[in-house]
Amino acid sequence: MPAVSPEDDINLSNLNWLYLDMNSYFASVEQQDDVRLRNRPMIVVPVKSDYTSAIAASYEAKALGIKTGTSVKEARALCPAIQIREARPDRYVQVHNRILEEVDRTLPIEKVCSIDEVACRLTMGQRHEAAARALGYRIQQNIMANIGECLRSSIGIAPSRMLAKTAADIVKPLGLTVLRQDDLPGKLLDLKLNDLPGVGASMNLRLNKAGVFTVAELYALPAPRLRQIWGGIGGDNFWYSLHGIDPAEVDTIRGSISHSHVLASDLRPIEAARGVARRLVAKCGSRLRRMGYKCGGLHLSIRADRGDGRAQAEAHFDVTADSFRMIEVMDGLWRHCAAKLNSPRVKKVSITCTRVIPADLPPDLFGWTPEVAEDARHMRVLKALDGLNQRYGKDAVTIGPRTKVHGFVGAKVAFNRIPENAEFWE
Ligand SMILES: [Mg+2]
Repeated sequence: MPAVSPEDDINLSNLNWLYLDMNSYFASVEQQDDVRLRNRPMIVVPVKSDYTSAIAASYEAKALGIKTGTSVKEARALCPAIQIREARPDRYVQVHNRILEEVDRTLPIEKVCSIDEVACRLTMGQRHEAAARALGYRIQQNIMANIGECLRSSIGIAPSRMLAKTAADIVKPLGLTVLRQDDLPGKLLDLKLNDLPGVGASMNLRLNKAGVFTVAELYALPAPRLRQIWGGIGGDNFWYSLHGIDPAEVDTIRGSISHSHVLASDLRPIEAARGVARRLVAKCGSRLRRMGYKCGGLHLSIRADRGDGRAQAEAHFDVTADSFRMIEVMDGLWRHCAAKLNSPRVKKVSITCTRVIPADLPPDLFGWTPEVAEDARHMRVLKALDGLNQRYGKDAVTIGPRTKVHGFVGAKVAFNRIPENAEFWE
């Protein structure tokens, strides 16, 4: 078997996040500050009262079945010798700030997620599993050595922030769990649905109603199904997170692959406007290819020259970064929108690629196999175009209308045929 190179391993494991979660945080701070509480069952309560519940429990209390939410009465019933302390929020914030300093010395903190949880982004060589583990252990040790021995923490290392948080929860206290992209869903399959961040009691119920009872079943569903169950984009975001992709990243991609143009007056006649729309699609296509993505949908919106008439339409298709195919799809959308707009002139054209996915991810990562629809000859031509544009600047050569377009120079290529390379040099 060929050895896996270090770079390959980084790509396969895709470890982007290290997530730190302090174990029984408030209780640990109390045990740290008062030696009499160490190794003893104890809880922290918000107010001194018999009619309140624990907001934290020490591991010794947890061993007796006492946890966050257990009432004082129940806790006493389970353990008559239970120690009870009133919360000291100021002190927890103080220790929190010390923890941030300590983590930051080893790894810059990307996000403080709560009073006892932080997320750090791993970069470059830190994404090697061995390096990431070493960083995790060092952070755990530094906190105990420099702040207090009772301050134990669990660490999760994974491709998305949500998965890293999930991983941190798997082994407690003092755990360190790695979820690699190439062995997903792997360790996730042992979890219950509501072990996943974002699946609370009511979402659990909704999933059950949709026939989903295990993480394996959830993992196998395609994103559109999760969107249905969640009732919105939250389902897509959850799906991406669960499959190792940060939704923030997805949003950036979604947002960035769109173009719109307010037309100069000579481009407003509807046929000229269609030429501009085609050019915008071609630009979206080249951006997709440059960023290493494909799209499975295209959205067109046009606005009438006068009044507030608008028309929009979206089409879904097999994923592609083939500009020629995308232009064909856009032409279909255009006919539809032009008929609806009921105006011979168009003021503004907007194009957005939707259902954008990374081109190099293994298909099964998506729970379905996306069909790729790309013509090999188209892709060769587009690669040549992209190369020329990189060499000679944006828009040196493009697929676009034969009509004159403002601020637009360079060779033009007709849409309805694939030119030979040599034509670009004429
Ligand atoms: Mg915690």
